[in-house]
Amino acid sequence: MTPEGLYCEPAGLHVDPVRPVARAVITHAHSDHARPGHGAVLASAETLALMDVRMGKGRAGAVQQVLGYGEATVVGGVRVWIEPAGHVLGSSQVAMEWRGSRVVVSGDYKRAADPTCRAFVPIPCDVFVTEATFALPVFSHPPAEEEIAKLLASVALFPERTHVVGAYALGKAQRVIALLRRSGWERPIYLHGAMQPLCAAYEALGIRLGELRSATVAGKAEMQGEIVIAPPSAVADRWARRFAEPVSCVASGWMRIRQRARAKGVELPLVISDHADWGELNATLDEVGAPEIWVTHGREDALIHEVAKRGMRGRALRLIGFGDEDEGG
Ligand SMILES: [Zn+2]
Ligand SMILES: [Zn+2]
Repeated sequence: MTPEGLYCEPAGLHVDPVRPVARAVITHAHSDHARPGHGAVLASAETLALMDVRMGKGRAGAVQQVLGYGEATVVGGVRVWIEPAGHVLGSSQVAMEWRGSRVVVSGDYKRAADPTCRAFVPIPCDVFVTEATFALPVFSHPPAEEEIAKLLASVALFPERTHVVGAYALGKAQRVIALLRRSGWERPIYLHGAMQPLCAAYEALGIRLGELRSATVAGKAEMQGEIVIAPPSAVADRWARRFAEPVSCVASGWMRIRQRARAKGVELPLVISDHADWGELNATLDEVGAPEIWVTHGREDALIHEVAKRGMRGRALRLIGFGDEDEGG
């Protein structure tokens, strides 16, 4: 650990540093992991493209190197490669191998299927560095398709109302749209302005989202029975009052906590998470088989307790600046 974050000394390489560094590898484009101004940046092609959209072209770093999944590069004698993390488009785990031992940094990840990104690939390793956003037994995410079915049932029940779904702009929004399409929703889907650049970027990267329209130009009557995707903060806000009797929905793993949904004025909570739940975290620890588990951010205490119970060594890194609320769970 350094003030900039997790550091691989022989490679001179930081993983998801919180400040500009000489050489960084970035797991994915969420703002708590991807920050601008590095010297050299290694990441998947999709992550680099999404960083360009979010921070401006070329601002991620002076030199940018695309890593293909499974393609190793050698940095200072360390073999470095990435594999999919299943979290958002382009999300990657970083594997680093040096003198016969292997560390894998998960970044954020989930194990549930997601039509907008490649599935998590477990990599056997000696040290597994994991997130712990939902590392409590209470967190068990239902299949996302069931939550989308609830949304569509509500749309059918209230054809005169507009359903406004709060979803984080990078990843969750596109996943919700793709899931709606798979469930047979073929009508145009309306977007808050904050959603548009990243939806366009996903389309450009080959993720088909169907017909998307701006929510801000549409009239109230026209929006009856339609679905709008907006940032979670806009859902219970004045912004949503432009629609016909809006039904406020939020898609997040945090919606598992009903009091939280109520406190935020969410009428229809949708438990759709881009992070591993308790069962997925534990299954992943089994699959990677690492005797040593380092926990970056989230509910590290519960996970480390579980790790110790199973005879592995756990260590809380207590990374700061990660898991910001606005990432949306
Ligand atoms: Zn993330
Ligand atoms: Zn994160």
